[in-house]
Amino acid sequence: MTKFRTLDDLSDVTGKVALVRVDLNLPMQDGTVTDDTRVRASAPTILELADKGAKVLLLAHFGRPKGDRVSTQSLSMVIDTVQAVLGREVMFCPEIAGPVVKQTVGILRAGDIAVLENTRFWKGEEANDPELVKAIAANADFFVNDAFSAAHRAHATTEGLAHVLPAYAGRSMQAELEALGKALDAPEKPVAALVGGAKVSSKLEVLKHLVSKVDHLIIGGGMANTFLAANDVDVGKSLCEHELKATVLEILEAAEKAGCTVHLPYDVVVSKEFAANPASLRICNVHEVAADEMILDVGPQAVESLGDVLKTCKTLVWNGPMGAFETEPFDKATVALARMAAALTREGSLVSVAGGGDTVAALNHAGVAADFSYISTAGGAFLEWMEGKELPGVRALNV
Ligand code: ADP
Ligand code: MG
Repeated sequence: MTKFRTLDDLSDVTGKVALVRVDLNLPMQDGTVTDDTRVRASAPTILELADKGAKVLLLAHFGRPKGDRVSTQSLSMVIDTVQAVLGREVMFCPEIAGPVVKQTVGILRAGDIAVLENTRFWKGEEANDPELVKAIAANADFFVNDAFSAAHRAHATTEGLAHVLPAYAGRSMQAELEALGKALDAPEKPVAALVGGAKVSSKLEVLKHLVSKVDHLIIGGGMANTFLAANDVDVGKSLCEHELKATVLEILEAAEKAGCTVHLPYDVVVSKEFAANPASLRICNVHEVAADEMILDVGPQAVESLGDVLKTCKTLVWNGPMGAFETEPFDKATVALARMAAALTREGSLVSVAGGGDTVAALNHAGVAADFSYISTAGGAFLEWMEGKELPGVRALNV
């Protein structure tokens, strides 16, 4: 497990310049920020450093300008949101290195905050160019990485800076690493992993890694169809990757060797058309799916027995919805299992960690996101962590 320094390891920072990598890749519509979750995630780190008297320079990327100055992707557009969330005045600096940043640092008083320009305006960011890294570092005393969501990239401001400046994990990074560590690196056993979503192909590495790590692998969503089909179940018109049969059988064999029990649904919710509350909706055994039907959710009996599995577990890692939850009533299995996991977590018998764009949306839909031990909003970085990969941005913080 990564051992890293946190803000607790900083001594007097009064007047010192902190480069803080955060996630300001905010969703926008017509030039207005539609969701400030990512700013709120790093607010504790930014305010703690400012309140301790550091001059805080925020580094972040925004969109994919690919090394060019694209005015519609300037971070100046998020300043109002950052100010609103922090409740402080924040300066904007149109550079990330060189004399203009130096000048900005000169203007800032201890405890002041500035946002530097979109790091991806410079080609050296994604190339992790040592010259750019050196130039950015030249204006600062230390580096804080608070952007777990970007830690799967070895870029100048997500990885490079940690090698040339004293480096610390911010509070959000720290919380994420501690939660994920508890869930898979050193979990309390038995551990269950719930993996769903549309396709096996997008999560092959995740499945391969999990069978060696967890006691129960619960498969749902569209990917369960691929598993069922590999076991010669006729899944009708269901979303299914028939070409992955050999791969699925390998995963099942690896699971058996590792002592991991794989749970596939034995009853399912099917329909002839993919629409809300369709007339052709029915619940059946997996062996009774007709040629013109598709499986769109895990059935109620399977959900009940999966609930019993969760009750025996101490740790749960969840990625991917159990069914096509965006369309009613195919949200039932996802919602029921989410509520069970939430109740077990509230009782203190389960550590529950979940992540993934659609998974987070599904848990919000079930109204239980706040009850989970930890919810990662990190998308790509979360999946790479579930694949057992060491993320470059995290490795660079290792002491
Ligand atoms: P995440 O973003 O959490 O990693 P994925 O993107 O892998 O999750 O998968 C989410 C998608 O999978 C959802 O849009 C959901 O509708 C779809 N899905 C789940 N079960 C099924 C199913 N049985 N058939 C078709 N699509 C499904
Ligand atoms: Mg998704």
